[in-house]
Amino acid sequence: MLNTARNLLNQYFGYADFRSGQAEIIENILHQKNTLGILPTGGGKSICFQIPALLFQGTTIVISPLISLMKDQVDALTASDIPATYINSSLTQTELQDRIYDIRQGSYKLVYVAPERFDSDYFMNLLNSIPIPLIAFDEAHCISQWGHDFRPSYRSIVASLKKLNQRPVIVALTATATENVADEIRYLLQIERDDCFKNGFARENLSFNVVKGANKRDYIVSYLQEHPKESGIIYTSSRKETDGLYNYLSVQGYSVAKYHAGLSEIERKQAQEQFVYDEKQIMIATNAFGMGIDKSNVRFVIHYNLPKNLEAYYQEAGRAGRDGDESECILLFSQQDIQLQKFLIEQSTFDPEVREQDYNKLNQMIMYCHTEECLQSYIIHYFDPNEEDMKCNKCSSCKDTREKVEITREAQMIFSCCKRMGERFGTTLIAQVLKGSSQKRIRELGFDQLSTYGLLRSQSEKEIVDTINYLLTEDYLQLTDGKYPVVQLTEKCIPVLKGEVSVWMKKSKTPVKEARNVEENEELFEILRGLRKQFAQEENVPPFVIFSDVTLKEMCRFYPADETSMLQIKGVGQSKFAKYGQAFIDEIKEFVSGNAVIVSEKPLQPDITQKVVKETNEKPSHVISYEMFIDGTSIEEISKARQLSKVTIQNHIIRSAEEGYEIKWNEIFDDVIEKRVLDVIIELDTDKLKPIWEALNGEIDYFVIQAVISKNKLTVK
Ligand code: ADP
Ligand code: MG
Repeated sequence: MLNTARNLLNQYFGYADFRSGQAEIIENILHQKNTLGILPTGGGKSICFQIPALLFQGTTIVISPLISLMKDQVDALTASDIPATYINSSLTQTELQDRIYDIRQGSYKLVYVAPERFDSDYFMNLLNSIPIPLIAFDEAHCISQWGHDFRPSYRSIVASLKKLNQRPVIVALTATATENVADEIRYLLQIERDDCFKNGFARENLSFNVVKGANKRDYIVSYLQEHPKESGIIYTSSRKETDGLYNYLSVQGYSVAKYHAGLSEIERKQAQEQFVYDEKQIMIATNAFGMGIDKSNVRFVIHYNLPKNLEAYYQEAGRAGRDGDESECILLFSQQDIQLQKFLIEQSTFDPEVREQDYNKLNQMIMYCHTEECLQSYIIHYFDPNEEDMKCNKCSSCKDTREKVEITREAQMIFSCCKRMGERFGTTLIAQVLKGSSQKRIRELGFDQLSTYGLLRSQSEKEIVDTINYLLTEDYLQLTDGKYPVVQLTEKCIPVLKGEVSVWMKKSKTPVKEARNVEENEELFEILRGLRKQFAQEENVPPFVIFSDVTLKEMCRFYPADETSMLQIKGVGQSKFAKYGQAFIDEIKEFVSGNAVIVSEKPLQPDITQKVVKETNEKPSHVISYEMFIDGTSIEEISKARQLSKVTIQNHIIRSAEEGYEIKWNEIFDDVIEKRVLDVIIELDTDKLKPIWEALNGEIDYFVIQAVISKNKLTVK
């Protein structure tokens, strides 16, 4: 039987032999057994049901979650002379009628349908009127509420199946299934444990990397400079971030497309095609992008933010290197992203059980970012705890050449501090107590009286947090589930506390050497903001006219203590240095002398001017809007003409102004309004739009506020 299958593989698909896993799955289906196949992305799951469909009498039904996916597969099958079609909501009534007629005639070997079809009696009657030998659940993890992509419509099919007069064989296929999810799929679809086939989760051509604490934009620019011709995806966690990064990279002349659910269907389709056909090199997207996209030469997938769990991560990262060539998966980790994921969990469900599960998965995702274990091995273990350990020798853990240093004493301090705090607090607070922070909350709780208070004063809070995270990944400590996970000791601590066992961790001898790995010091930021406010009040100008937040933050990362290094800071030119430079240097020096901070040099900025020149052959979208605006077209009219939202057009105009295009500001606001806005800005000491808008009782448009800010930034000094 398998020989016949192999002949079909040859004849229809042009492949010489099955890939690992395929033959076993197909053979099992041909033995009329319900089957679960777990193969990695790009592993060739489609063929696992397409070949049995060819061998069976009758029509195989394939359930697929995405319209685009159905169409692609049907097109591919039709091109190989396999009669196939799909029915979903994209069809007109006549098309639908025609196809149903043909299905009744038995004209197709495969029919792809969306899960919702099974809710329709009409469809169920259709199924009962023709022979159905096989039903395939593609992307079967969608059926499981423990999965990362649960679709209730998938689950409700289970009940509908009972209404069938016949008993088709069922095959479920997915790339990502933890044990929980696999168990649930098997339970719902009545698949025996022996009929479950799983093939190596390892993706040998992928190298995994976690990059911590980097300035993400700088990192991406330097990565793109080092990989100038490669195609890749950058995932961000929000539409706003996708837009922001897209703008940032496109003005620098990079070939980028963007994709998120806030764009129109046409825009999304266009972006996707540009990327798939290599017209655009880099896709910046939210997780809305990717399912069913079969672009084989994706050389890198960068996660700009922490994903919600490892299932999602592995699926998205797994879009790299489908063609089997070496590819990179990079996760840019920053502590702040955890908050966003927690917020999303809170928003997504009210079911406490599901929520706890989500928090648990998030914690495992965070552990991935801190482990010293081989990252590929960590992922494989996550999906299958029984798998053997491996070393891929190319992930950022395997390639971490830092030596292990003994941290037994530190570990003991952390354990005992955690214990003394009653094992009731999270990572940050424990780190702050060990650091000896003078925070009000710590004093209120009396933790400044603990014998462990300030024991690790010589380290930065971030270093202590890193060590705690490491002790968590090594199971000396554990986190409770829930929104505010609490650190607790495990049994593994006892021999360490008794001094019987030592603890080792990889650490740099000179920590945070690389300048781009530095986060800003928030305490200093507050101090410098204060200084900025003084200047602003003296001169009666908005604070950002002195220095923008971005500039202050850079100062708080690099602690410039003389003229040369101060002039390296973005936003500090000669004239501003002359006015304010020394005052800021003095403040920074004082701060550095009183605090243990690690001062590192700011690297020279990459020269982006060349990139900007490259862009000229294609007029950027914002400039098109700008030109219309200058010609006297109103924002409403531009918005209609260009089919873009008003807000987008407004942003285009502001951006053009900031890039140096001339704007007649008095066409947007008059002196009275400008003064009103500026007064509020000075009063509030912010250039954040929302508080300003609120303080103006919502009477002045966001756009006008933005325009006032831009005008003053550009012209006052
Ligand atoms: P999955 O659904 O598992 O992500 P697909 O079914 O889309 O993967 O297959 C991925 C690619 O691998 C497709 O281009 C497919 O034609 C190809 N492929 C599948 N089976 C084989 C095989 N036995 N030999 C070579 N290529 C194969
Ligand atoms: Mg597939």
